[in-house]
Amino acid sequence: MSYLQLSGVEKLFGEHRVIKGIDLAIKQGEFVVFVGPSGCGKSTLLRLIAGLETIDGGSLQLDGRDITHQPSSKRDLAMVFQSYALYPHMSVFENMSFALKLANVDPAIIKDKVDRAARILNLTNYLQRTPKELSGGQRQRVAIGRAIVRAPKVFLFDEPLSNLDAALRGQTRIEIAKLHRDLGATTIYVTHDQVEAMTLADRVVVLRDGNIEQVGTPLELYDRPANQFVAQFIGTPQ
Ligand code: ADP
Ligand code: MG
Repeated sequence: MSYLQLSGVEKLFGEHRVIKGIDLAIKQGEFVVFVGPSGCGKSTLLRLIAGLETIDGGSLQLDGRDITHQPSSKRDLAMVFQSYALYPHMSVFENMSFALKLANVDPAIIKDKVDRAARILNLTNYLQRTPKELSGGQRQRVAIGRAIVRAPKVFLFDEPLSNLDAALRGQTRIEIAKLHRDLGATTIYVTHDQVEAMTLADRVVVLRDGNIEQVGTPLELYDRPANQFVAQFIGTPQ
């Protein structure tokens, strides 16, 4: 049974149909990567799932509930923004605990959850620093930590490594893979980088111009690309 079900999902910006009726079933605990060239609709599809864009057609089900028209805050999903979305004047601890504080979670429980996330992300010694006292990779880990403490049903990442230099990208990619192994949380990860897609994904969804071209494991896409577009996209470094 699918955990997150997209059925005929559509999005228009004015006259422009940018998501053209997408059907996709994601299993609990799966790491799914949306990949495709710039402008194909990856971010829009993720934002539709997150509830950050209104849907123009089709439906979304999460864990047996219809979330198609639910506000973002009620969906129990956490989107990991790029590291520049941290609050610059707050410490790492405050950044990571902010959502829980807003939800009036007990301070002792907040501390527990933040400490646990900090251990997973190797941030234990940095909790009292502010973002500007951290490296780019550490900031990105804080952004991930803000999602972890909320224990969402689904993690959504939109090109989380794109602000990092090549060395840090590789390292953070490994950390994200480890995080998924440790937490086992359902994850949707958007990238235009096929190396990221092929190394992280349980299943890759190749998007082109608002449609799905192919869905499969990295090996399936590599061995049996459905068409020339997939073959070229998977086979050619961007
Ligand atoms: P990707 O993330 O794959 O690069 P996007 O989802 O950002 O692609 O964009 C898909 C298409 O939708 C593009 O043609 C883009 O120009 C258009 N688009 C995205 N956001 C908006 C918006 N807020 N208003 C109008 N058009 C948009
Ligand atoms: Mg995008």
